Amino acid sequence: MTKRIFSGAQPTGNVHLGNYLGALRNWVALQNEYESFFCIVNLHAITQPYAPAVLAEKTRDLARIYLAVGIDPQISTVFIQSHVKEHTELTWVLNCVARVSELERMTQYKDKVRKQQENVSVGIFDYPVLMASDILLYQTDLVPVGDDQRQHLELTRDLAIRFNRDFGETFKLPDAYIPKAGARIMSLSDPGKKMSKSDDDPNGCVLLMDDADTVQKKFKRAVTDSGTEIRFDPARPAISNLLEIYHLITAQSPQQVEEHFAGKGYAQLKGDLAQATVEFLRPIQERVRDISDEQLDRILDQGREKARQIASVTLDQVFQRTGLGYR
Ligand code: ATP
Ligand code: MG
Repeated sequence: MTKRIFSGAQPTGNVHLGNYLGALRNWVALQNEYESFFCIVNLHAITQPYAPAVLAEKTRDLARIYLAVGIDPQISTVFIQSHVKEHTELTWVLNCVARVSELERMTQYKDKVRKQQENVSVGIFDYPVLMASDILLYQTDLVPVGDDQRQHLELTRDLAIRFNRDFGETFKLPDAYIPKAGARIMSLSDPGKKMSKSDDDPNGCVLLMDDADTVQKKFKRAVTDSGTEIRFDPARPAISNLLEIYHLITAQSPQQVEEHFAGKGYAQLKGDLAQATVEFLRPIQERVRDISDEQLDRILDQGREKARQIASVTLDQVFQRTGLGYR
């Protein structure tokens, strides 16, 4: 049987190169080989403060981006999380399988608590359980994500193992698919932290929808390391990050990239990187603008129906096995 992948991104802001290189790029590559479900996880997005009208707009923007980067709705299922109510229903059941102590160990949760102090919603705490439900509902084999999601994937497997043990074999155990390159693109302003949609500093991220001027400015301002040599080196995280972006965007090998920049200066690296990025983004941006509202509605309606078909079967089994079954 064809194996299945599931993945998603939050409509919390604007998609950046980290999201693309760490996740979306691999979704596109894997969709021909796997039965694919790509979700816009708007229920995850409301765990942070938000404005409803903006959320609704960003949700559609993100769906457009999925399509524009190459997700093919003829072969992949693209849908919005809140359209498939099984996600929240399974979350409740898994909430009663998950332990407070294991959720307290999640580093993403701890980071958010550190930043937001007393304003942390219960939703942020519960985020990994909702994510586990997303994945397990589709009996997913593989979850292509960036490196920051590794711990959440381990929790997903732990919850599935515990549920299967206590209630009978129900969920397939999913594996994370974390790419060798691009799994952790760093902020351009601070190479010590990952590029993030929710980062307050707009210069840290290059957005997929940034215009040419903005892309140039952001790369120009990017922090660099001391020294002058341009090569991959763990001790020089800022330059390595810029080189990694260049390597992935131009599809040149790391060795070719180093040869290209041998003897050249940081200004040239930034200029070439900006130019390559602008060229890379142009067709994506054109496709985003070409997708009509009607087209998008049709794709999302189809996606919702297909997702529901699969999700409802899993949820029925869960309800049967837990004594909740009424349908
Ligand atoms: P937020 O700050 O709101 O959490 P985000 O930038 O982390 O936003 P998500 O929607 O949470 O984006 O993640 C979507 C996908 O992008 C996930 O698979 C995640 O692992 C991946 N991803 C996020 N940031 C990076 C990054 N800097 N490098 C590589 N992959 C990333
Ligand atoms: Mg994130």
